[in-house]
Amino acid sequence: MKEIRSLSAEELAGELEAMGEKKFRASQIFDWLHRRPVDSFDEMTNLPVSLRGRLAAQFSLVSLKAVNVLTSRIDGTKKFLFELPDGNVIESVWMSYHHGNSVCISSQVGCRMGCCFCASTLDGLVRGLKPSEMLEQVYQIRKLTKERVDNIVVMGSGEPLDNYENLLRFIRLLTDERGQNISGRSITVSTCGLVPQIYRLAEEKLGLTLALSLHAGDQETREKLMPIARRYELSEVLAACDHYFETTGRRISYEYSLVHGVNDTLEHAKALAGLLGKRNCHVNLIPVNPIKERDFTRGARKETEAFQEVLEKSGISATIRREMGRDIEGACGQLRRSYLGSRANAQETGEVIL
Ligand code: SAH
Repeated sequence: MKEIRSLSAEELAGELEAMGEKKFRASQIFDWLHRRPVDSFDEMTNLPVSLRGRLAAQFSLVSLKAVNVLTSRIDGTKKFLFELPDGNVIESVWMSYHHGNSVCISSQVGCRMGCCFCASTLDGLVRGLKPSEMLEQVYQIRKLTKERVDNIVVMGSGEPLDNYENLLRFIRLLTDERGQNISGRSITVSTCGLVPQIYRLAEEKLGLTLALSLHAGDQETREKLMPIARRYELSEVLAACDHYFETTGRRISYEYSLVHGVNDTLEHAKALAGLLGKRNCHVNLIPVNPIKERDFTRGARKETEAFQEVLEKSGISATIRREMGRDIEGACGQLRRSYLGSRANAQETGEVIL
């Protein structure tokens, strides 16, 4: 069955035409799917009941179910665990900053990139998310929080550029003026550095912000942390980012997770400053979020600040990411893992959760 929430407005119009329906029906349906999104065909109250029935017989309608919501007592950050139609679970986060509200969404169930400090990758990749499953994270969070969503960051579990076609469809639907009409400038896509896809993305003319997970200023250290570094050399990754900046005019945001004793000394800071040179970019420093499966730790706050100072002294704008939702398993993939663990236990003991 075709999945209706992943169709573009034009494709939907084509489908409705093929069903012998008038054009305006397609607009009404698109509105129900994306502007004031509903969970079922029955809620599309301005359609004749017969048409709702025909749609239900012909299309599947993806809607995510929140199976757990955790709210941080420290800063109000909310973490959502959503169940997908096939029973997989993913996590998404809502954060409120003074400059607006952000939603962080997952792009895949699991991940196959293998970065060694990341919890999302521990069990490998299950599958990429469909466009509707990415959209629904945003739609459901809006419904559940009743808050505005100003920014969307594709920085949850998964490697978005490893799910390229679905990601692009998701972004085109999210920015569609007949739907949520979110500006491309409000969307950030974070990648570990899949070079060919960065070049492709530059040509899409979407005005997205690209965040590049750098994590090291030298090839050897980067290879220690990220297997993908062996496939694409640092120089190739930077050339792709430079091309992205030149083509789109959007400044690259380089992410740098600080892992104590591995990439966080002042020497590493100098190497990073040397690598980035006079580029017009921004560096986001993220003290590593320890996960129990690995024994990485973070340095003292003073050391992180000294790292930042080295960058700023050489003219590179750098911020230390404010940690959000520390009390609710903030790091990517941690909540999902603990939920799956408890679901497995509950199945063994016959308990019911939630
Ligand atoms: N696959 C994309 C999105 C991943 S998550 C990417 O690699 O960019 C977003 C950022 O969080 C990435 O920079 C990732 O390397 C980082 N990250 C993942 N786990 C982390 C942890 N435990 N501590 C600190 N940063 C982490």
